Amino acid sequence: MEGGSINEIERKREIIRIDRGTPQVGALAFGIVDRGTNIIEVRPTTLCPLSCIYCSVNAGPRSTNRWAEFIDDPEALLMALEEVVRFKGTRDIEVHIDGMGEPGVYPYLVDLVRGIKTMDGVSMVSMQTRLYMFTVDELRELARAGLDRINLSIDTLNPGLAKKISGGRLGTILIMLRNWW
Ligand code: SF4
Repeated sequence: MEGGSINEIERKREIIRIDRGTPQVGALAFGIVDRGTNIIEVRPTTLCPLSCIYCSVNAGPRSTNRWAEFIDDPEALLMALEEVVRFKGTRDIEVHIDGMGEPGVYPYLVDLVRGIKTMDGVSMVSMQTRLYMFTVDELRELARAGLDRINLSIDTLNPGLAKKISGGRLGTILIMLRNWW
């Protein structure tokens, strides 16, 4: 994986696995966030391999104030999401996977996407990502599981600057985009 590494984070701070007994609504760091629109945010993990110099949530291996990271349980997320979708009572819900980290490193991402896609009332599954961590095959697998759209963050088209800003390699993203279609 490019940028930093999750192993580096594991050596520095505790990784807390959120279990099924933990409420999934109410914490911004993990679980479900409903801001009163037809978009529901799903936040599966706080882990992030990058350390962007402007990161507003101080994520990544070089975080200066995080003492722990979270990995949520996929079944707990899906059960809570189903309830929230039902509560909102619309059939045009977009579920957006994001978080105070990089959802691309969530270990149960394919299962999560598949579960969301088959949920009654959900019309679109989207995800915020930096893309560095995926192979083209992994992206295709996500698409097959039901991922409809990726919101891709690119800081700059200057490779040197990209490395400086986020620690990731711009070239990897461009190759990925070229091979995606
Ligand atoms: S990719 Fe996002 S979460 Fe990770 S360090 Fe950069 S801005 Fe923060």
